[in-house]
Amino acid sequence: MKIAVVGAGLSGLVVAEKLQSVGTVEVFDKSRGAGGRMSTRYAGDYEFDHGAQYFTARSDAFRAFLQPLIDDGTVREWPATIAEYEAGSLVSATSEHATPLWVGAPRMNSIGKALARRVSVSLDTPIASATRDSAGWSLRSAGDETFGPYELLIYATPAPQTLALASASPELMAYCDSRTMVGCFALMLGLSVALKVPWQAARVSGSPVSWLAINSSKPGRRESSAALVVHSANDWADEHIEDDPQAVEARLLEEASAIIGTDLGTAPHRQLHRWRYANALKREGNPYFLDLNAGLAACGDWCIRGRVEEAFTSASLLADELERQL
Ligand code: FAD
Repeated sequence: MKIAVVGAGLSGLVVAEKLQSVGTVEVFDKSRGAGGRMSTRYAGDYEFDHGAQYFTARSDAFRAFLQPLIDDGTVREWPATIAEYEAGSLVSATSEHATPLWVGAPRMNSIGKALARRVSVSLDTPIASATRDSAGWSLRSAGDETFGPYELLIYATPAPQTLALASASPELMAYCDSRTMVGCFALMLGLSVALKVPWQAARVSGSPVSWLAINSSKPGRRESSAALVVHSANDWADEHIEDDPQAVEARLLEEASAIIGTDLGTAPHRQLHRWRYANALKREGNPYFLDLNAGLAACGDWCIRGRVEEAFTSASLLADELERQL
């Protein structure tokens, strides 16, 4: 059986690897690297995990999946002290967490790179359309290459990007419509000196900023190159998603400087990234989409909730069901 997976984020890579037991799997991604939102941006000596910051592993299945990656050092614990700021004031800071905080090492994108070695992935291949005839699904890329036919097509792309490709299936369109994704701005600051703060990361409420993280404090990173990631609040991002990027950057810089009590405007490196579809609101219901008669499926964090573990869970449950039925 020939299977196509669109999207080489965690969910696409997990479903692709598992389904190698039932067929030949080809994965396509529009980006230059695998890993999707578990990504890392480079700028000279600075590095920033500008998407997912860390993740937890609450289920036995996810812990079992992670164990070999922990054993070979691709996933490491981040022993971070996390502060809480409310209305500009530091209210608490703790290094005691209910579950370990895991990160890719030496970068968040190390996980996607490691998983992509286990499956066949075509990068730099944005899929623009999918059509089905009696032979199966054919894919066409934005560069006008065609791939297929495939008996099974799996979308492991965020809901709005899946919706854009799903016109052949009103059921999949309705499933995508039932999920909500929210945006986030990531401001990456490369500093000339390390920040003097009693934490490695901070959750912030009552501000356009929701999260601050000293990226260089994560395991395996170069501590000498002080790198700070500032995330906006999701609702603030959605309100300002089309605003002038310079105005967004200036506002986040001002807020982050006020919270930390240091003028971050002097940072030698500054870069803003807009995540239009950063996180997905929690949703009860089926943790994946499957229409076996149509040879069509979809998975990803957005099917459950915008978290790394949920991306794994959605993909893993879909693969289990397909292994049972095929
Ligand atoms: P993705 O990682 O989005 O993968 C989808 C892939 O599809 C991408 O690689 C994309 O390039 C590709 N694609 C899309 N359209 C096409 C197309 N037409 N053709 C080909 N390829 C296509 N989670 C946590 O657990 N903890 C956190 O701290 C955390 N913080 C976050 C902060 C931010 C700013 C963001 C953006 C996300 C954060 N998340 C966090 C969420 C986490 O990153 C996601 O839940 C998880 O990475 C989703 O994986 P996925 O495989 O479902 O989707």
